[in-house]
Amino acid sequence: MAPYDSVTADPGLPRPNPTHSYWQRIPHALADVQSPDLPGDQDIAIIGSGITGLAVAKTLLEHHPTATVTVLEARALCSGATGRNGGQMAANAGEQYSSLAESHGAETAGKIVDFTFRNLEKMQELIREYDAVELSEMQSLRKLRVFLTQGKFDEFKESIARLEAYHPSKRGLYTILDADTVVKDHGIHGTFGGALLPAGTVWPYRLVTRVFAALLEKYPNRLKLETHTPVESVEYTPSPAASNSYVLRTPRGPLRAGHVIHCTNGYSGHLLPKLRGLIHPFKGTMTVQDPGNSVPNRGAAFSWGFHYPPSCDPETKRVGYGLYYLGQSAKSGYFYFGGENARVDESVTADDSFVAEHSVDHLQSVLPKFFGRTNTSNWPLVSSWSGIMGESPDGLPIIGRLSSRLTGREGGGEWIAAAFNGYGMANSLMSGKALALMVLGKDVSSWLPIAYGLGERRLQETLTIPRAVAALSKL
Ligand SMILES: Cc1cc2nc3c(=O)[nH]c(=O)nc-3n(C[C@H](O)[C@H](O)[C@H](O)COP(=O)(O)OP(=O)(O)OC[C@H]3O[C@@H](n4cnc5c(N)ncnc54)[C@H](O)[C@@H]3O)c2cc1C
Repeated sequence: MAPYDSVTADPGLPRPNPTHSYWQRIPHALADVQSPDLPGDQDIAIIGSGITGLAVAKTLLEHHPTATVTVLEARALCSGATGRNGGQMAANAGEQYSSLAESHGAETAGKIVDFTFRNLEKMQELIREYDAVELSEMQSLRKLRVFLTQGKFDEFKESIARLEAYHPSKRGLYTILDADTVVKDHGIHGTFGGALLPAGTVWPYRLVTRVFAALLEKYPNRLKLETHTPVESVEYTPSPAASNSYVLRTPRGPLRAGHVIHCTNGYSGHLLPKLRGLIHPFKGTMTVQDPGNSVPNRGAAFSWGFHYPPSCDPETKRVGYGLYYLGQSAKSGYFYFGGENARVDESVTADDSFVAEHSVDHLQSVLPKFFGRTNTSNWPLVSSWSGIMGESPDGLPIIGRLSSRLTGREGGGEWIAAAFNGYGMANSLMSGKALALMVLGKDVSSWLPIAYGLGERRLQETLTIPRAVAALSKL
């Protein structure tokens, strides 16, 4: 395979034997839930049981009085990216503001900033509503973003200055810090400066499984969760004998539905071949590390992000993708640390059945240094795993109704919410809600950024395969 063919390759179905995510080490009671037989006809079939599938299901059940909803999941409940991520509830729209404003104009860029910060508030509201603050170890805190080169820091400051100039209501959201303050007040070494912003951390698996369980209890006759039920194909076969026109083929038999909602993120291209390249899988690496007593536990107050210019090592061909992210459990003191250092062919894949040893070694070697520690003998690795994100060429989520041109099938009942580009906690909940309301015929254009949609201009100009390949070739 040529180096960038993997962008348009079939991601396949979720692998049946994923690496073990620390978040899922105690499976929820519903992890393997399924009905004795697949339900026959359903109003709505949702494919995927991550945070997006959850948000869609919850909104449909709450906003429609009778609709029947089945969530189909290839593996165990919430075993995709949501069950294997970094647990960071943080927005990145501030640092992206300049490039968003250049591509979409200041108004839309401002809407994206609003949407992501609002989504984070909604996450915290959801956690409180379902009495999951303790269970999900939610921590409301400030994120310290630091910059490992002067160029990155200058770029960031320029972006925030533009954000504040065009959107005065955003003044005060970010507090810029110089390098001395970053070391003196925060004990983080080797930076050119940083910034604080409101954020949080969460145990997403525990949150999502708790809410699914509550929905199942509240809507026992309208909601079905069918785990270990990979959808192998979707067909549009209207028939006078059936009220619903779509057939979803699974190893457990067919399911008929009136609408099909794809919440399959990095795997979307499998059932939607025309979307291959417009969404591609990207494999992420996570570690849990135990710093013991070598650094103070500040997990209740701070999370961290470390930004540097992406670059490729000419010898190993491994790419540093530009970001490490870190949270700390106030309870255990464990660090949850992720970030990519891998070859492009290792990263652009949907195979989370293994985690590259060199990527884990890299994460183990860089983290202590940020805290000024060189002796790491008391800093063991607790756990490591991989997970699959969904990336789009323009870095924005993809939310909306799929045209026949994109499904390759007739019928107007297929929808998608995917491609969260590593920032699902800042986007998925409200994106899923917006999509469900669209399915119910509601207008969400006042709050869903237009740039997340499937408009013709986006499909022609920014959501293109050459752009996806170019972004990777630059590394
Ligand atoms: C290592 C890693 C670290 C990350 N860190 C963060 C972070 O700290 N903060 C943050 O905001 N975001 C982070 N992300 C991204 C975030 O986890 C995702 O954006 C978010 O979870 C996407 O949710 P989702 O429901 O759309 O997708 P997923 O959670 O991936 O759910 C999709 C589901 O669809 C299922 N599926 C796919 N195809 C089929 C099929 N054909 N049939 C049946 N089921 C199918 C999959 O098994 C999966 O369970 C990270 C991701 C990874 C991988």
